[in-house]
Amino acid sequence: MHNETIANLSQGLANGEYSSVELTQYFLDRIKRLDARYNSFITITEETAIAQAKAADAMRASGNARSFTGVPIAHKDIFCTNGIKTSCGSKMLDNFIAPYDATVVDNFNNHGAILLGKLNMDEFAMGSSNETSFYGPVKNPWDTGCVPGGSSGGSAAAVAARLVPGATGTDTGGSIRQPASMCGISGLKPTYGRVSRWGMIAFASSLDQAGPLARTAEDCAYMLNVMAGFDDKDSTSLDKDVPDYTGQLNNSLEGLRIGLPKEFFSADLDTEIAASIQAAISEYQKLGATIKEISLPHSGLSVPAYYVIAPAECSSNLSRFDGVRFGYRCQSPESLEDLYKRTRSEGFGPEVKRRILIGTYALSSGYYDAYYLKAQKLRRLIRDDFVNAFDSVDVILGPTSPSTAFPLGEKTSDPISMYLADIFTISTNLAGLPAMAIPCGPVNGKPVGMHLIGNYFDEARLLNIAHQYQQVTGWHQQTPDGIE
Ligand code: GLN
Repeated sequence: MHNETIANLSQGLANGEYSSVELTQYFLDRIKRLDARYNSFITITEETAIAQAKAADAMRASGNARSFTGVPIAHKDIFCTNGIKTSCGSKMLDNFIAPYDATVVDNFNNHGAILLGKLNMDEFAMGSSNETSFYGPVKNPWDTGCVPGGSSGGSAAAVAARLVPGATGTDTGGSIRQPASMCGISGLKPTYGRVSRWGMIAFASSLDQAGPLARTAEDCAYMLNVMAGFDDKDSTSLDKDVPDYTGQLNNSLEGLRIGLPKEFFSADLDTEIAASIQAAISEYQKLGATIKEISLPHSGLSVPAYYVIAPAECSSNLSRFDGVRFGYRCQSPESLEDLYKRTRSEGFGPEVKRRILIGTYALSSGYYDAYYLKAQKLRRLIRDDFVNAFDSVDVILGPTSPSTAFPLGEKTSDPISMYLADIFTISTNLAGLPAMAIPCGPVNGKPVGMHLIGNYFDEARLLNIAHQYQQVTGWHQQTPDGIE
């Protein structure tokens, strides 16, 4: 059962091949038996899952089942889950039981989906390797000596190891797509404003966006159908019709115009990754697409712009963790200042502290114009490059990550090299565009992901383009060695 897609499991439940209780117990047993190898779960919600599965079976018996009724999933531990620990991968929230559900969580609950547990992640979603988690690193199922990517590393590893058929993630600079790419699965970051951020613990509010990670584009479409939509609790959520994302998967790609940014295919690109991407381009040509070289002249500035804007927003968002209202509090504070200082020194890990310091500096008077304002201007130029490009192409294609999964510990002492792991993904967050990573072949036994960037609110087309590729290739069906 663990090799079935969400689409098939949904069908199997509808056909009465198994009950949701059976399916749920099957995945819970698998997680308990195998996850010690990967460390992808922070919390397993067994009781909740079984209770939800019974309710889902009853929902089906009464004729009210929906596409996700009875299908198990897991949430990145950044989404608030009512009555369930919500740690955000941090000691700061190790004792935090959320008092409400995030809108994304609510949407899955309303469909009758089953929550198997909460997934490991980089602390407060800051990282590209899942090594900044308070709960220890996640191991890549393709090679447990390597990172799964980050920050949604637990989500990607759990899906790749077939511990759960689909998982939620969040993407501020690449955190859905980069781990999806490194774990050989499919992941989608929707347009900013497509999915509600309410109840999703904020890192950088103008960049954060939730999305699905699953084995196929079709499964991502199933998940996005549940996740997307207007939410009046999130002021940046857009009131715009939600199409049926599974409805356009089979559209023909005849005449599709694919843009290849010359900046993404420079001489520095790893030759084997480049060859995998070129092979994917050829598949698209066979499917009727035309290829055009384009330019995104400011894309080289996206990493520096991001590493001013994201830390600035994080320094503001994380000021709420002060030991007063919720979360960690230091022992026997001597004064209010001592309470703040020691709570934050003891509760946050080194990468989070680094970001808070950078952000506070960039926003401080006298430096604001030089750093934050300048970075916002670059952001506009980066966005304008995409707007120009979409005048002449329908989708932009390139690599997701400059390397395949790297060894644990390789980049932990060099933040800049870690930051560069997102060099191809960050510009889309700055522009607010939707983008997808899907597997396009292994290099030396490790997955490679291609990156598809769409125009605003063009998720249905991205899913269609990804799905068509998955109809004619088998990379998404590859299973890591040793996954029984
Ligand atoms: N790796 C990037 C960072 O550390 C992106 C993280 C994310 O998308 N949440 O900021």
